[in-house]
Order: sequence, then C-alpha cells, then structure tokens
Amino acid sequence: MIQASNFFVTLREDGDPKEVASELARRGLWSSPRRNRDGQTTLAVEARSAVVNPRELETIPGVASVFTAGFDCMLLEKQPKIVAVGDQFIGEAPTVVAGPCSVESKEQIADIAGELAGGGVRFLRGGAFKPRTSPHSFHGHGVKGLEWMREAADTYGMQVVTECLSEEDADAVSALADVMQVGSRSMSSQALLNRVGRCGKPVLLKRGMASTIKEWLLCGERLLMAGASAVVFCERGIRSFDPWTRNVLDLGAVAMLSHGFGLLVMADPSHGAGRRDLVLPLAYASTVAGATGVMVEVHNDPGKAVSDGPQALTPREAIVLNQRLQDGFAVAAG
Ligand code: PEP
Ligand code: MN
Repeated sequence: MIQASNFFVTLREDGDPKEVASELARRGLWSSPRRNRDGQTTLAVEARSAVVNPRELETIPGVASVFTAGFDCMLLEKQPKIVAVGDQFIGEAPTVVAGPCSVESKEQIADIAGELAGGGVRFLRGGAFKPRTSPHSFHGHGVKGLEWMREAADTYGMQVVTECLSEEDADAVSALADVMQVGSRSMSSQALLNRVGRCGKPVLLKRGMASTIKEWLLCGERLLMAGASAVVFCERGIRSFDPWTRNVLDLGAVAMLSHGFGLLVMADPSHGAGRRDLVLPLAYASTVAGATGVMVEVHNDPGKAVSDGPQALTPREAIVLNQRLQDGFAVAAG
C-alpha cells in the first residue's frame, strides 16, 4: 500500500485518459494528465488521494505501468497484525496502556498498578528514564524506577511499557520491560532505533511531534530491520499554533496507518491534548478512527504528580475507559 501522491500512472497508446481517470476517481484517486515528450500520457495522482495498492491499478484497461516514487516498507507490510506480549495480545481486543507519566516511588507505582489491574487494565506504563523539555526538571528514577515498575506489574499480572531514552540504557530497559517505547523526541534518532531494535522486543514507536507520516513509517521499518520483533505505532499529537491544547492529535494519521496501511497503531490522547478533560473523548475517537488501543497517563493524586499532572486521569477514569472499550465502544459508536 502506498500513499497515492507518490505515483504516476502511464497509459498505453490506446488508453483513454478520461476513462482511466474516471476509474482512478472511482477508487478515490484524483489525477491530472500530463503529456510526456515521447507522446505518452501520464496521470499524476494528486496529494490527499486515497491509499491504494499500486499493483491493483495496473489491471485497469488502458494502463501500461504504475511508477511509484515511493519508499520501501516491506518489513512493515509483512509484520503480523496481532502481537503477543506476555499473555496479552495487541491488535485483538482494544488495548489500554495506563500508568503515571513518571514512576515516582515504589508505593506510587504499586498503588496505581493494583487499582488498574483490579479494573481489568493489563498494560502498565510509566517513565523511569524521562525526556523533559527543561534540563532542570525531574528525569526519572532510572533503573530503580524500572525495578519498582516490574515488581508492581508482576504482582498484578501486567505487562510493562516504558521508554528507552538512550542507547546506554537499552539493555536495562529491555531486561525489565515487555514493550520498549521510543518517545516523540527520540523518534528520529537512527542510532537509538538501531539499538532498541537490536534488543529484539516489541517496540511502541511514538510519532515525532513534527514528523511526517512517511518519516514515522520509515523509523518503524528501521526498527524491524534492526531486529525488533514488532512495531506498534503511537500517535501522540503534532505541533500546531494553538496553545489551548498541548498538541493536535492527528486522527487522520491514525486512520491512514490503520485502514490505509493495515498497521498496528495506538493513540496517546494524554500528550495529544495535555488536558484531562479532553483525554476520554479523544481516546474514544481514536478507537473509532482505527486505533487498536490507547495509552493514557494515570495518577492516584494528579494534583501532586511530579510531571504532566494536568493531563492525568484517575485510575477509576482509566478503568471506565477500558471497560467501555472492551464493551465495544468503537463498534457501537455511530
Ligand atoms: C511519554 O509517553 O512518557 C512521553 C514522554 O511521551 P512523548 O514521547 O509522546 O512526549
Ligand atoms: Mn507525560
């Protein structure tokens, strides 16, 4: 599958440009004709057209060839649609990954894990190595935080999702996490992607806040090439001009990855919106758009969170979210 703006459809001598153009339009592709120097007609497929398999277009009568000036995502294309993580599966029932922005203490992560697991949430998140915009902010408890989170997850039968911030920490994170997260600020670090990929684990790849979908996909491809067992994409919002939300959660990208490319994609409405009042509506909207799950930040005392308190849900809210998704919200929503 490829985004339509990446290719050109060349016609046979006897091909009728109008007929081929209308066949393309039937498939959601807008095109404009160009006459080559050698007299051949080419239809340039315009940006914002649908996502299609270019090989299928070669069967349209009058089409000679389809030229894709595209990119190679053959490893992503071959990736299984369901990923096993411990006794859980991503890509089946909606996945809810929940937990604090930062692992703050052994008690905090154990309390939150206990509450979430009691309500049926099976994936625990939490930052032990924290990327922070200001160098003066809290950067996490490191390996100690990872150990607290592992213990909490094992106590309550949960899977751990946590960020690997640097190549140096990759082995420690790999040893204690079930899914290694690559964060928005690190998405385009090729050295980190190669190193994380080499650990051979499933990776949750967050979208760079100013990265195109194509760049994001190619980073996923790189992880698989380096040895990651699977890549799950995570849309977490892109930069915009409006300060009322922290980012703009790009549900178009979620739909494109899910429906257009058939990839596993989750959404993180916590960082997407930056405000807890918008997290639940955006979480539901994400699953309707095609997300296989959501990652949400949760704190047992959001007012006292050391990072990202304004966007943290309570454990109870995350449990209700999980319940509604398991009950088929995405299907039931009109
Ligand atoms: C996070 O999920 O902990 C995080 C820092 O998110 P992002 O990389 O999307 O900013
Ligand atoms: Mn956060």
